[in-house]
Amino acid sequence: MRVFKFGGASVKDATAVKNVTKVLEITGYSELLVVVSAMGKTTNALERIVESYLFGNGDLKDLTNNLKKYHFQILDELFDTKQHLVFKRVENLFDDLKTTLERNKSTQYDYIYDQVVSYGELISSTIISDYLNETGYRNEWLDARELIKTDAVYRDAEVDWENTQKRIVKKVNKKSLTVTQGFISSDKNNFTTTLGREGSDYTAGIFAYCLGADSVSIWKDVPGVLNADPRVFKNTQLLSHISYNEAIELAFYGASVIHPKTIQPLQRKEIPLNVKSFLHPNSEGTSVKKGQPLDPYTPCYIVKKDQILVSLSSLDFSFIVEDNISEIFSLFHEHHIKVDLIQNSAISFSVCLNDKFDHFEGLLGKLKAKFKVTYNTNVSLYTIRHFTEKAIQSLEKDKDILLKQITRETYQMVARD
Ligand code: ASP
Repeated sequence: MRVFKFGGASVKDATAVKNVTKVLEITGYSELLVVVSAMGKTTNALERIVESYLFGNGDLKDLTNNLKKYHFQILDELFDTKQHLVFKRVENLFDDLKTTLERNKSTQYDYIYDQVVSYGELISSTIISDYLNETGYRNEWLDARELIKTDAVYRDAEVDWENTQKRIVKKVNKKSLTVTQGFISSDKNNFTTTLGREGSDYTAGIFAYCLGADSVSIWKDVPGVLNADPRVFKNTQLLSHISYNEAIELAFYGASVIHPKTIQPLQRKEIPLNVKSFLHPNSEGTSVKKGQPLDPYTPCYIVKKDQILVSLSSLDFSFIVEDNISEIFSLFHEHHIKVDLIQNSAISFSVCLNDKFDHFEGLLGKLKAKFKVTYNTNVSLYTIRHFTEKAIQSLEKDKDILLKQITRETYQMVARD
């Protein structure tokens, strides 16, 4: 059997949803499980609803009505009659969302976030499943929250593999067509949890692993995995093959095409992952599987923007050694700050940080109490995997470089934006 994942862009409007049936027509749709994301930018819209509910930013009613309008517009274009049950089903989901907020007693942001944001996938999967049924692609809709069980770490839940495997094997009919949601899961008290932003790829990986699928295909608005982000670099190249380890490396350095957690379960069972264009389903795309690291063997460029480069030296000119370093890292951990690069010299220790949750200010105070601190905000971290001299030269041209580091296969550089 196969697992497909359709991301937000591939179901962002009625035309896109109709295109899903074109893809299924070409690829076949028996023995298939389809994982869908929320439509278009719905998750961002739901995040704004959470902000409005908790902090009063923006009008909650307007935000919800706009999101509802967006989905009903899609429904109007997909279904001939408003009598179709899907209208009622989607209406009910919006009612549930409202009731969830009205009845909520928690003040815990992450918990509320998951209870709210999960509606994006519930709504999209309902619409897509009904549209497929209506157009002759008979399928069963399953609630992923009843299948994927996790701990209660809201927004970044950890999968309970044993329980999940049991439920998936019991509930999914491998022979037929199933539609379910990406990204969402539930904890042992059946509260909704989520697997982290862009987590639907990971959902596809979880189902594929538990079902022993033959392959996973992620349908995207790009032809496959490119050797660089085309919004930043010219003359990008399509990678036709990447090994599992290389895909993990690329994701680690920040390539955003595949969710980093997705690869490991697939690698364990050697399930190939295809990244393909939903507009050109017959094109080859990229396959991630066992084998050579990369084909074509070419430098891969990754940029992470909005980083902070921090250099620390001791106040008494002593060396920065193990005990200070461990203290520094405890502080990073405490402040949920991710370290993307480290460089150490005798008296100074530099790190490139990703301050996703805006905790740097708090950290800075603590660092300054113990070290001499210099830092630059708004820097970019550039990585070239499988670098060549030529690739480095062209990347470094006209850049104000603050730090460089080269290991066997990887070149990294921090430069001012
Ligand atoms: N809808 C979720 C997000 O936008 C999950 C996903 O699309 O992968 O992050």
